[in-house]
Amino acid sequence: MIKTQDVPLSFAPNPNFSKVFPSQAEILDYFTNVANRFDVTRHVVPNTEWEGAYWQELTSTWLVKLRNLSTGQLYYQECKILISAVGGLVNPNQFDVSGIDDFQGDIIHTARWKTDVSLHDKDVIVVGNGYDPITALRPRSVLTKSGQKYPADIIVLATGFSLTQYDVELIGRNGRTRAQHWNEFGYKEAYKSIAMSEFPNFFYVLGPNSGKGHTSTIYSIEK
Ligand SMILES: Cc1cc2nc3c(=O)[nH]c(=O)nc-3n(C[C@H](O)[C@H](O)[C@H](O)COP(=O)(O)OP(=O)(O)OC[C@H]3O[C@@H](n4cnc5c(N)ncnc54)[C@H](O)[C@@H]3O)c2cc1C
Repeated sequence: MIKTQDVPLSFAPNPNFSKVFPSQAEILDYFTNVANRFDVTRHVVPNTEWEGAYWQELTSTWLVKLRNLSTGQLYYQECKILISAVGGLVNPNQFDVSGIDDFQGDIIHTARWKTDVSLHDKDVIVVGNGYDPITALRPRSVLTKSGQKYPADIIVLATGFSLTQYDVELIGRNGRTRAQHWNEFGYKEAYKSIAMSEFPNFFYVLGPNSGKGHTSTIYSIEK
């Protein structure tokens, strides 16, 4: 049985998921296969950062600023339609606590998991469970708000996410920036979470306010 949360893309059903809540590896495998099946993979340019986009009235095109993260090289590409699919929960909140530079163990964020670190026989501290927050680090231990000291080889961070993926510079018609647009509304506005006025042919996938907190985000992405 497949529950609502696990419904895959509507145009690519998958009766072969092994269980109701399949593993990350299985979900990744599913999406990789769908991308290959619909011939999307060869169009993807990996390891590239989108740094900005500028509307050009004369040509009715977007000038997109990109950086090759392997070489550091900056380059520009023009397009008629620009789609932002930068995701919702992407960039983890930073963990900033006194003594962090002196900590001698591993610090791992759940969103940047290190597969080569074993938890076996280690003292593992989970940060982000809301119980007795950590106030300082020592080389092999943590100090908490209540005054406790716990030995620590590995700290697993679940510090949540920031929305910094929306900081990318976006300048629309008449020099209007995305930041100005949102400042005027007083919140991250997008019509039906998809488009913004004065930003022609620019669209969001899973844009502002599309997250629901229940059911699959695939629904939000497809609708
Ligand atoms: C811990 C966690 C648990 C979750 N659990 C569930 C769940 O149970 N059910 C559910 O439905 N959803 C869940 N989600 C949400 C789900 O993972 C996302 O909503 C889904 O992955 C969104 O897909 P996407 O393709 O829109 O974005 P993503 O899969 O986030 O992909 C966005 C991509 O854009 C890239 N990117 C961002 N900015 C730039 C830039 N400037 N330049 C270049 N690339 C950029 C990112 O690196 C990333 O690769 C969870 C998310 C997290 C973090």
